[in-house]
Amino acid sequence: MTTLADLRDRDLVESTMTETAFAYLPVRTVCPAADCGVDPMTGGAIKINCATCGGKGYVTTFFRNEFRCRVDWHNGLAPNMLGGLVPTPDMGDVVLYVGVADGVLMERVKAEPGAYLLIEGGKTVRPKSVSRHRVLVDTCVEVECVLATGISERS
Ligand SMILES: [Zn+2]
Repeated sequence: MTTLADLRDRDLVESTMTETAFAYLPVRTVCPAADCGVDPMTGGAIKINCATCGGKGYVTTFFRNEFRCRVDWHNGLAPNMLGGLVPTPDMGDVVLYVGVADGVLMERVKAEPGAYLLIEGGKTVRPKSVSRHRVLVDTCVEVECVLATGISERS
């Protein structure tokens, strides 16, 4: 089996990024309802009980960006009878490897609290760190993620 560390060439590394995934970035726009919008005096909705924006004056839509990645799930750990830790079938954190060009997108998702990534099996995750791969200089970007429960596609 070829590991990422065996691959020294950027093209070879990117050939391991076989998963298609999506980044969702929230975009806040003024409520499109004809009788609503943002009240310049209060900063709230013109129509307090607006069904479109819920009385906020703004609606949030999500801008979807497709990207390729390699997905490495890290199993959870549980104590065994000897007092050590063994991997469990539970899904723990996940590491995504993305192309260098997608590093900027990952940084944007990390910086924006409402943004998230949708990966294999419909799992939503949030990056907690984005860094150049520590073994391979300049060949890919490592994105450590945590499961983001309670977030779903709202667009
Ligand atoms: Zn509205």
